[in-house]
Amino acid sequence: MNPFLNEYETPFKIPPFEAIEFTHYQPAFDETPFKIPPFEAIEFNHYQPAFDQGMKEHLEEIDTIATNIEEPSFENTIEALERSGKTLDKVSNVFFNLLGSNTNDDMDSLAMSISPRLSSHNDSILLNKKLFERIEEIHENRQSLSLSVEQNRLLEETYKRFIRSGANLDQNSMDRLTKINSSLSSLSVQFDQNVLKETNSFSMVIDNEDDLDGLPEEEIRQAALLAESEGQNGKWVFKPTRVSMYPFLTYSTQRDLREELYNSYIQRGDNDNEFDNKKIISEMIALRQEKASMLGFDNHADYVLDNSMAKTPENVNKLLQTVWEPGIEKAKGEVQSMQQLISEEGANFKLAAWDWWHYSEKLRQEQFDFKEEEVKPFFSEEKVLEGAFDVANKLFDITFTERNDLPKYRDNIRSFVVEDSDNKVIGIFYTDFTLRPNKGGGAWMSTFRSQSKFDGDVIPIVINVCNFPPENADGISLLSFEQVETLFHEFGHGLHGLLSNAQYPSLSGTSVTRDYVEFPSQMMENWAREPEVIKTFAKHYQTGEVISDELLDKISAAGTFNEGFATTEYVAAAHLDMAYHTDKNTITDIDKFEDQALEDLGLITEIEARYRSTYFGHIFAGGYSSGYYSYLWTEVLEADAFEAFKDKGLFDKETADKLKKYVYSAGNTDDLMTQYVRFRGKEPEIEPLLKKRGLN
Ligand SMILES: [Zn+2]
Repeated sequence: MNPFLNEYETPFKIPPFEAIEFTHYQPAFDETPFKIPPFEAIEFNHYQPAFDQGMKEHLEEIDTIATNIEEPSFENTIEALERSGKTLDKVSNVFFNLLGSNTNDDMDSLAMSISPRLSSHNDSILLNKKLFERIEEIHENRQSLSLSVEQNRLLEETYKRFIRSGANLDQNSMDRLTKINSSLSSLSVQFDQNVLKETNSFSMVIDNEDDLDGLPEEEIRQAALLAESEGQNGKWVFKPTRVSMYPFLTYSTQRDLREELYNSYIQRGDNDNEFDNKKIISEMIALRQEKASMLGFDNHADYVLDNSMAKTPENVNKLLQTVWEPGIEKAKGEVQSMQQLISEEGANFKLAAWDWWHYSEKLRQEQFDFKEEEVKPFFSEEKVLEGAFDVANKLFDITFTERNDLPKYRDNIRSFVVEDSDNKVIGIFYTDFTLRPNKGGGAWMSTFRSQSKFDGDVIPIVINVCNFPPENADGISLLSFEQVETLFHEFGHGLHGLLSNAQYPSLSGTSVTRDYVEFPSQMMENWAREPEVIKTFAKHYQTGEVISDELLDKISAAGTFNEGFATTEYVAAAHLDMAYHTDKNTITDIDKFEDQALEDLGLITEIEARYRSTYFGHIFAGGYSSGYYSYLWTEVLEADAFEAFKDKGLFDKETADKLKKYVYSAGNTDDLMTQYVRFRGKEPEIEPLLKKRGLN
């Protein structure tokens, strides 16, 4: 039986009344506690038919809404749209979550075939003329409808989504737009695959043990394993990936090898071979420009930013410039310190980009005198998570209780019931923290179900996925301080989903603009950096001893180390993104365009942009075109917001209540800047960010 579809295995398919607690007919999917997806019952061959059925049902629902003979109303059109596509949501939420965290070859190939189908499914709804006419009519009459603030927001957001997808274009333009969308989507897949092929095809093979000088034992072991996997037994292989390259750049004493590996990294997609990405970039930029003008915008950045908090390229560029100036000054100072170190060592060369990691690490050790290994025993994954729960409890009055009887998609994941102060269950929280090969890299938050209230109380099911180190010999996973921040970051996204208090699912939780969504997550990291908070959970996993003030001081002093570099490489990439998407000329020579853009900015030769064009996946293969600035934008909000707690106390009740009401619970139910000002009493200022980055 397919748990996604409504069938029972009882005689005559009578609902299995004895087995279920609900008073009305419920599909099998809903027989679990809190109607959590019945993971154990889902098999791979359930997905495809459920996707087929889900899309079919959804289109039927859309057709019913679009051809309704009644006058268009908020209820029979906008709310009906919110209600549509439930089966498709069910299967998509489970499938795409598990594709990210627990995939296999079958899942990967189904994703390849289902993704373009889902995209044209969406197009067919967003470009449905009859449906759009109804939405447009309601939108025109909106003043007379006496809608609530949230209903008004839902109407605006729905209308905007259709307009931005081209719903009010003539048929010819619509056809052209559909073609552009599909070309853009295949070009971006091709871009991504080229980067992957370039990355995989280069190996720096070392066969002389002396060339490993300076590298830690673990890195040497990993390099030997890589060599083995490439049939180079007894040798060592390094690849142009961050995981393999950064340790090599940091610790290797062989300058020429550092240069070789680094250049292989920054040349990816720019080698004039079959995997070259330059032509793809030119085509994508031109198509994006064409699409933007069809939709009435001056350029692609205008089009993208129209639907953001930043609103215009001018606002983005202003922020980038404000941070750039102190950032590049600081970076120049860092170059000087490293150059001095080089001459102290008796060497005679000018610091180059591939030397940066090596010499900054030497400086770091010299200045702060601590090693990662000293810190880790104080940060066991379990204790850090308890610390995060504790912060949420103090701020928002909610509790997390582990439950072992809830459905799980594999071992080693944990599930918690989240309750408010009246012991009312407000959400379900899963953690999937362990590193494994069938999980995507990095860390993220996702939902199996969004919160909503308009059709009865639906509580959210939220998950945090991370790649934390495997258990050590004592069976404990120990985190670096950076990983502690990651845990709090993802937990911040998690709270944004769990505390959501919206009527409509498409406005709930994290369904906000890209340049706002990282605010609640980055915000939560602040508590993880406060000594008073750290001490509540940083206890040695063997002795129980609390972390010392001395060590805490070192961690916090090292916090802004190398910030000139970090700011500079980030802003350079964000600037490049904006340069591509505000230039209306045809761009044919990508290398020249990039050089010119970065020269205009004033980038120094010792630093490359964090991404060079030909492997800048965020903007050519991900959803971040004209959006790479977002991380910095939300950091402005977060640094400014945390000042309120620094002023009034880390857990000040009144401030926390406002933060909950206007940020963590508010989703996208009202204008985001308006919500921010309600919380903070004013618009954000940039000074707290500069201070935090040590740039003031
Ligand atoms: Zn995030």
